[in-house]
Amino acid sequence: MQEQKLINEQLIKNMLWTFLVFAFILVIFDLMIYNQVKNVLYTEIDTQLTSINVNKPISKINPRMIYILRDSQGNVTNKSSIGRIYEEYLVTLNFDKTIVDKIYNINISNEYAYRGITYNVLTNVFTGQTGYLQLLVNVDGEIQTLKNLSTMLFLASIIIIVISIIASYILSRRTLKPIIESWHKQTEFVQNASHELRTPITIIQVKQQLLLQEPDSKIIDKSEDINLVIKESRRLTKLIKELMMLATADSNQLILKKDMVNVDQIISDVVAPYVDFASIENKELKLDLNFGKEYNLDRDKISELLIILLDNAIKYTSNNESILVKTYSKDNRLYIEVNDTGIGISDENKKHIFERFYREDKARSRETGGTGLGLSIAYTIVKLHGGTIKVLNNQPKGTSFVIKI
Ligand code: ADP
Repeated sequence: MQEQKLINEQLIKNMLWTFLVFAFILVIFDLMIYNQVKNVLYTEIDTQLTSINVNKPISKINPRMIYILRDSQGNVTNKSSIGRIYEEYLVTLNFDKTIVDKIYNINISNEYAYRGITYNVLTNVFTGQTGYLQLLVNVDGEIQTLKNLSTMLFLASIIIIVISIIASYILSRRTLKPIIESWHKQTEFVQNASHELRTPITIIQVKQQLLLQEPDSKIIDKSEDINLVIKESRRLTKLIKELMMLATADSNQLILKKDMVNVDQIISDVVAPYVDFASIENKELKLDLNFGKEYNLDRDKISELLIILLDNAIKYTSNNESILVKTYSKDNRLYIEVNDTGIGISDENKKHIFERFYREDKARSRETGGTGLGLSIAYTIVKLHGGTIKVLNNQPKGTSFVIKI
């Protein structure tokens, strides 16, 4: 529940950030487009308004432009040439004599938008009388274009923001998924680890308390208890060592010390002591080493990997059964196989055996000193070497571990 709440909070935060970032980018983008279009539209009109030479008679009338001549008081003197437009609209037009040679915006009858300019002109050459020439261009079309543009930009921005929020939600869920999974795994790992550590500690404590309750008894009488304490201490040491190795690998601090090594030699050195051990248990341990080359590996880690697989192979085979360790080269890759004719692993369990603390039979594994970490360490070692490890059925029975590096 708590977890789901945190995930939802994170999702909402991500969506909010996406909204803010996109909204900010889009506002800037919209403003730039709007200003650019506005400039383009008005530059043309402003050039028309400013390119008039007032000292010369106007040679070519611009049909979009209204030419208003005014005397020094500002009264219109060319009403007749302006015609009906003057009667219907321009009568009420305010005129500001002080704004000269500067482009301004003006509304006519509160309905039509114009852009205009006023020039000082000589109205009578003989008397030297001056007046004004006011030029007006209707910009309703431009204003409508800008209105349409802003509506379009607004709608497009809303659509982009909505799409980006949905995309951010989907992407956040995707990126959060592996994090959530590894978080679950981590929590499960910590819970399992504390449980596994607690068991031997409890046994050691209880046994020691019992020993203290009988201080006069002889060691020989209590050898079973003492043995158990020693066994559990060993188990604890093994567990801590394995946990440390996995934690170091998880934090990417485990660095391999790779060298060109004689693979077959390393394997036969590791297997040698197990041959006698296996024969004591009436099991046969055979070698079939055909790699015959040097390969770039971490010698200690590969030995560790083989020990894990051999330990298991011996652990899970019965009397008169056999174990075969093979090496060979295929497609320029090194293959190591550890095959046994033991109890085998069910297909369902095959899917889980590389998981930390996974054991097919917890009680049995515990009895044989197993921690359930062996194969996950083997998996980590192979992965660090850039290889793969697979578990298959051995023929006619048993298990086969195939490593490809
Ligand atoms: P453990 O310390 O319990 O052996 P591992 O990680 O090495 O832990 O192995 C996990 C489980 O995989 C074991 O508990 C056992 O059930 C199964 N397993 C591993 N190797 C073999 C094998 N050679 N034959 C049958 N089962 C095996």
